[in-house]
Amino acid sequence: MAKSPAASAAYDVARVRADFPLLSRTVYGKKLIFLDSAASAQKPRAVIDAVARCYENEYANVHRGVYYLSQKATDAFEAVREKMRAFLNANETREIVFVRNGTEGMNLVAQSWGASHLKAGDEIVLSTFEHHSNIVPWQMLRDRLGVVIKVVPMDEAGNFLLGEYEKLLSPKTKLVAVTHCSNVLGTITPVREIVRLAHRAGAKVLVDGCQAAPRLAVDVRDLDCDFYVVTGHKMYGPSGTGAVYAKAEILEAMPPWQGGGGMIRRVTFEKTEYAEIPYRFEAGTPHIAGTIGLGAALDYVRGLGLEAIERHEAALLDYATRRLSEINSVRLVGTAAEKSAILSFNIGEVHPHDVGTVLDREGVAVRVGHHCAQPLMDRLGLVAAVRASFGVYNTMADVDRLHDAVLKVQRFFA
Ligand SMILES: *Cc1c(COP(=O)(O)O)cnc(C)c1O
Repeated sequence: MAKSPAASAAYDVARVRADFPLLSRTVYGKKLIFLDSAASAQKPRAVIDAVARCYENEYANVHRGVYYLSQKATDAFEAVREKMRAFLNANETREIVFVRNGTEGMNLVAQSWGASHLKAGDEIVLSTFEHHSNIVPWQMLRDRLGVVIKVVPMDEAGNFLLGEYEKLLSPKTKLVAVTHCSNVLGTITPVREIVRLAHRAGAKVLVDGCQAAPRLAVDVRDLDCDFYVVTGHKMYGPSGTGAVYAKAEILEAMPPWQGGGGMIRRVTFEKTEYAEIPYRFEAGTPHIAGTIGLGAALDYVRGLGLEAIERHEAALLDYATRRLSEINSVRLVGTAAEKSAILSFNIGEVHPHDVGTVLDREGVAVRVGHHCAQPLMDRLGLVAAVRASFGVYNTMADVDRLHDAVLKVQRFFA
């Protein structure tokens, strides 16, 4: 039996855990082992406090009032745009558009950029890994405009096939929309190379960074992608927040997609002049307190350091892979060479929902199902799988608890 490796000296996971109030609770009288950060991460005290402080002390609508509180709220809100710019290493704050989640980010690009730049016969390249929110908006566009969708295959282990991808590119390719990290298999895709090849073919690239942003140091200038989408709730921030990065010259050439307050310069019944970027894409009152909380989450994650997080999660993945592999009936789903700390598996012929239920009774929270990636599951010939996903607060002891609970499932059903 493998022994728990000692915690890395540089990364004090006990202290990190202590920052997350919810993790000290129990379920069914047992210690909670939270292994579902890929669905939504828990929030550190700093984020919870920032949201509460906003409502208690600084709350007013943004970009509207001339009075003191509204100015304060606007300053705090806009400061988060700068934090997000720095987090992604974008050139300018006006390249950061706030949205309400990752799904809205993809829809913004599809409906604004896609609908104004694509025509019948143009091709969009997606990958097998995509989350439904990076598939369905493009299908809606296909049904409206007659664009063609092509899909990059993967191998059995869940590796992105660069050679196959290259074969799909042609002068007809106008957009490549790929995830940076698979939410089911954990596969990290070779985004830099994907972008380089797409640009050579004259296509733009959207990267779905919903899983990657909380796990890897992201540098949009280094990747040279045209769009990068993140969602706040998976980055230890509040739900209802997120951002789209897009190169300024691309945003400048995009029409608004939702109309209303906040995105205009001047409105008459005859004609409306739109606001400059990024405000042109932010109609209506945003999630003010949530976005301020997202700023606290970015500070928190940067404080831990993305390199330290990567190392910590790589150690967890390594240990969890070894420990689950010790169990005869466990079949891992996704063993790509480049992976983040997301581990999907099945236990013999036991239905994943039964696995999830037994694990839940042991206090172990995992996700079961198709994980919003049905085409990927179809490719693997699976209806469902169990997914354990790790975050900054998970420990080697959590992995041991997962192992023991899985062993219990095997004894129970096999
Ligand atoms: C969660 C997720 C999304 C969707 O994000 P929401 O915030 O739930 O809208 C998109 N892509 C990937 C890879 C995800 O993991």
